[in-house]
Amino acid sequence: MGLGRLIVLTGPSGVGKGTLLRSLLKRHPDLYLSVSATTRAPRPGEVDGKDYYFLSRPEFERMIANGEFLEWAEFAGNLYGTPKASVDNQIRQGHWVILEIELEGARQVRQYFPDALRIFILPPSLPELESRIRTRGKDTEDAIVRRLQRAKEEINAADEFDIQIVNDDFDKALNRIEEALFAPAMC
Ligand code: 5GP
Repeated sequence: MGLGRLIVLTGPSGVGKGTLLRSLLKRHPDLYLSVSATTRAPRPGEVDGKDYYFLSRPEFERMIANGEFLEWAEFAGNLYGTPKASVDNQIRQGHWVILEIELEGARQVRQYFPDALRIFILPPSLPELESRIRTRGKDTEDAIVRRLQRAKEEINAADEFDIQIVNDDFDKALNRIEEALFAPAMC
């Protein structure tokens, strides 16, 4: 059996990480996407246990107290975290596990998994990012303002990551992620 591996995908809200990931997983069904827990309310169409484990704040805080998260962070007023047990199990079984998480969490993961491959997805520009967040129409104005503020902070930290990929052309961005995973010498 091959060695397990952790891959961290980070980038500002609205940059298209989720869509890139869905395509990546379709092409490589052997990759395992970790399902996070959050205190955010489900958006229309989101399914508990598939998109996230939707928890109350007390439930989430109990998991923090029990040390059940590999990492967790507060983002735009909600808590998000990666349940540790499933990631550990998958890696022990030799699988490649992908975390789609924000900056603070990515920094925490680095301490426990220094060998994790960390990829940062950048938008072509800030105005383009704002327009993507607005057209997706899933967030309140308050949430949009918070997400844009946080986006600027995250983009400033992109250099901390092993690889930076600009999502201006979807297919190119997807190919670059694949190269980073399966043919790292080409990056
Ligand atoms: P959204 O509310 O748009 O689904 O996610 C907001 C942000 O939280 C995104 O940047 C997403 O990558 C991040 N996020 C999702 N799950 C986790 C997690 O388990 N841990 C951390 N630290 N961030 C997460």
